[in-house]
Amino acid sequence: MKKSPSRSLAPKLAQKPKTKAEKPPMMEKIDKALSYTASTIAAIASALGRGGVGVIRVSGNELLPFARILSRKTPKPRIATLADFYSEDGEVIDTGLLLYFPAPHSFTGEDVLELQGHGGIIVQQMLLARCLTLGACLAAPGEFTQRAYLNGKLDLAQAEAVADLIDASSTAAARSAARSMQGEFSKEVNRLQKQLTELRALVEASLDFSEEDIDFIETCDIKDRVHQLQLSLAKIFGRATQGKLLQSGLNVVLVGQPNVGKSSLLNSLSGDELAIVTPVAGTTRDTVKSSLQIEGVPLHIIDTAGLHDTEDEIEKIGISRTWQEIERADAAVLIVDAREGIKESDRAIFSRLPKHLARITALNKIDLIPERAKRHENTQDIIIALSAKTGDGVELLRTELLKIAGWHPTEDAFIARERHLRALDETSCHINEALKQLPSLEFFAEEIRLAQNALGSITGTFTADDLLGEIFGRFCIGK
Ligand code: GDP
Repeated sequence: MKKSPSRSLAPKLAQKPKTKAEKPPMMEKIDKALSYTASTIAAIASALGRGGVGVIRVSGNELLPFARILSRKTPKPRIATLADFYSEDGEVIDTGLLLYFPAPHSFTGEDVLELQGHGGIIVQQMLLARCLTLGACLAAPGEFTQRAYLNGKLDLAQAEAVADLIDASSTAAARSAARSMQGEFSKEVNRLQKQLTELRALVEASLDFSEEDIDFIETCDIKDRVHQLQLSLAKIFGRATQGKLLQSGLNVVLVGQPNVGKSSLLNSLSGDELAIVTPVAGTTRDTVKSSLQIEGVPLHIIDTAGLHDTEDEIEKIGISRTWQEIERADAAVLIVDAREGIKESDRAIFSRLPKHLARITALNKIDLIPERAKRHENTQDIIIALSAKTGDGVELLRTELLKIAGWHPTEDAFIARERHLRALDETSCHINEALKQLPSLEFFAEEIRLAQNALGSITGTFTADDLLGEIFGRFCIGK
């Protein structure tokens, strides 16, 4: 069962001014009469900073009185109203558009107000503070989306896709997040869930009527259906795996001496993509990480330039963080000057890297020697001769990195997270296990039930009631 949001709203306002002409003293009275419990939430929805427009969002129950006090106007549902926003003492804080979305036709499923004022930090904060004096609480991160989920406006996978769309670092990631947000991923998961429910309903019906010798399904039918399920699951898994890559990308450790061409190669690798070597938000000066994209797949580069012995305590912290990043990385690229080859110091760092890392050596600056761009064959290691300057051979490196990532160009990925992949994997394990349990229908049904639970965790929607409904609805048993 879905729970209602913990904070419940109880506006006690009965009267409110109808026009702008009414005087501030009246407003004060109404202000005092307004006493919400802690269930209305408000937050600045636009990015904080200078901008043409700044948006504050308010969600709660019965927000019309709130809107009237704030603006001295009665907004019509879903129609933009030009309004002044008033402070407690009747001063105009800002003038902007007021939007009112009455429940349940709003993002959260509750009454929602959107105050579109001017995008200045101070004015936005003043307006937000005013919302708080009117009884709203500051919204927790993701609380609007959480309420949308709790009120059944979105399922879990869609709610997660909202965050992924906002965080998307490439157009491909944004597209696949939008696809998941629209419910494409959930639709596929629900389709599979329905197939599982049907199968289990048939098997459980056979179990219920086993003494009466009624077979609702033959073992060979079960196997056919399971085979279909496995195929559908594999398809979803493939699309979700690509989406997961677009969401989280590949972590690559970069190794190389100064001046071998690391920055040049990074710029060259990112090609025409938008973000060319941008620092990752939240990193400090002591964890060096930058991101670029190849075909929309984010590549997070961990620079090992700062890895050296030191007595400096601050530097030590930075170095230890870099090592933690390295532990989580997927691949390492060693860049060397093709004229000088791999040095002992490069080998030393390479040898300290975790064993699980895929490794590529890039022999850079081949434009300065008589060497052509190529992937060296017949070597155990992946070695690519290239020139960051001319771009020769950079494509080979891109291909190699995407291969390590497991990426293949696709137009139908849905953004997905590690938890979704784990749930799909668990579903698959239970389906395979179910097959092994045949001819025992009881154990088979139990494994299918576990598969359903695992799958249901993606959207957060499956409940046992669905199964009951399915069984009784299909067979009209009536006893
Ligand atoms: P980093 O210190 O490893 O990041 O190296 P940079 O990218 O700053 O490059 C160092 C110098 O090498 C610069 O003058 C670059 O223009 C030059 N360079 C980088 N890659 C190439 C290349 O492929 N060919 C040539 N000829 N010069 C390059």
